[in-house]
Amino acid sequence: MFNWLNVSMTRKISSLSFVLLSFLFVVILYSAYQTQKIYKEMHEVAKIDVPLFEVMADMDMLQLKQHLLMEGIRQQGDAFFANKSMQEKSIKGFDEFSSQLAAQLDKSMEILRTGLGFGSVRIKLMDHKALIQQINLLHQHRMNFDLLVDEFLAQDQQGFSTAWPLLEQQDSELADQADILLVNIEQLTTKVAATVEKQERDFMIINALLGFSAFAIGGYLTLHTILSFRRKVGSLRGQIDSLHRSISPDESRNALRNKGSDELDELGRDLKILMARFSLEQDNRDEVETQLLELATRDKLTGVFNRHKWDEQIKDEIALANRGHHFSLILLDVDYFKKINDSHGHDVGDNVLKLLVNTLRKRLRETDILFRIGGEEFAILLRDTNLEDAKILAEQLRKKVAALDESGMPPFSISLGVTDYQDFDDQVRIVKRADVLLYEAKGAGRNCVIAG
Ligand code: GH3
Ligand code: MG
Ligand code: MG
Repeated sequence: MFNWLNVSMTRKISSLSFVLLSFLFVVILYSAYQTQKIYKEMHEVAKIDVPLFEVMADMDMLQLKQHLLMEGIRQQGDAFFANKSMQEKSIKGFDEFSSQLAAQLDKSMEILRTGLGFGSVRIKLMDHKALIQQINLLHQHRMNFDLLVDEFLAQDQQGFSTAWPLLEQQDSELADQADILLVNIEQLTTKVAATVEKQERDFMIINALLGFSAFAIGGYLTLHTILSFRRKVGSLRGQIDSLHRSISPDESRNALRNKGSDELDELGRDLKILMARFSLEQDNRDEVETQLLELATRDKLTGVFNRHKWDEQIKDEIALANRGHHFSLILLDVDYFKKINDSHGHDVGDNVLKLLVNTLRKRLRETDILFRIGGEEFAILLRDTNLEDAKILAEQLRKKVAALDESGMPPFSISLGVTDYQDFDDQVRIVKRADVLLYEAKGAGRNCVIAG
């Protein structure tokens, strides 16, 4: 299942924006739809229900006039037919009433038919349709009443008592019908107004709820995102701190606290300092490693490579030789060194060894490697050198040592065994061969070179 709390910061922020934007989009769509709907309803009210209400007011007035006319005739009684001017006034009154009522009814019909025809009636559609039937009915009554009026006016004084009640009854029915219509119109317009008002209110409430929900969701997600962001940055800074302490335990914690424009900026600065310290630490470590390596591979007294290095190097050299890089080997040993120690002291013996190394080094090439492999025993690896050249070099070295004449130093000599790499040699075989040759040189009287 999708777990929002566990997703990455970037996904959190983008989903947060997506949710809020979608919400906003829905609210805008909803508002646009509702505004349009309310606009149409207002339009409907303005075009249909308001004019209907106005017609209703006019009809009320008309009925009042008709009532007064009828009341006037009723009071006259059968004397009405003797009163010519009254009769003329009444004929005119009845005509006006009928034509004005017909006009009002036609107007109402026209308003309703136009509204229904254009489809703009959407609230209480059935009620509006029912009004049309009632208007037709009222039209019918009006025509019936007109007939009765004509019959009544054709009477004489004797006919009043029979025709008048019929006319009054028809008038009263007409008035009732008109009242029903007016009440219906009034109720309908009130209902429509209430519906529109309710829809407006609902729209406001729903919009407010939507807005509040967007605010609440947005607020919660934003707060959650900020908190989790700060928690993660805090934990990262904690880790940086502990890394910092692990590489420089003496420095105070605050040494890393940086003020930046924001958390990411501060984090970036912390990381930069940490990286600088790491790189310094790495440099120190490299230096220490080099020193340790020197200590592990160098002879303390003379500074040349030691026995340990020799054991490794001879293996590598054999491996290279197997791939075609030829080399030669000289083993040399100080003659009667014990005697030097015995007669001049150990310190002089040490100095003899140092002098020997300096003398050898001066004559060796950069690619030649000198090792102290025993007390007063040395090995020289000569890369890309054949046996003949190695022998010549050994002889030169022997001569140089024998010719030394340093003040305060006893004269001394060296014996040398020289060999070169041969097929199927390994480190044991080649060293053994050189060793045998060295001992042959010792046996031959020392201060000499034997190659083979
Ligand atoms: P040979 O001609 O047969 O090589 O005789 P030698 O006396 O040189 O041989 P030997 O092996 O009998 O003596 C080597 C001496 O070197 C013994 C030891 O005390 C001495 N020695 C070994 N290492 C050192 C050192 O670092 N300093 C000093 N001064 N003497 C050392
Ligand atoms: Mg010796
Ligand atoms: Mg020796």
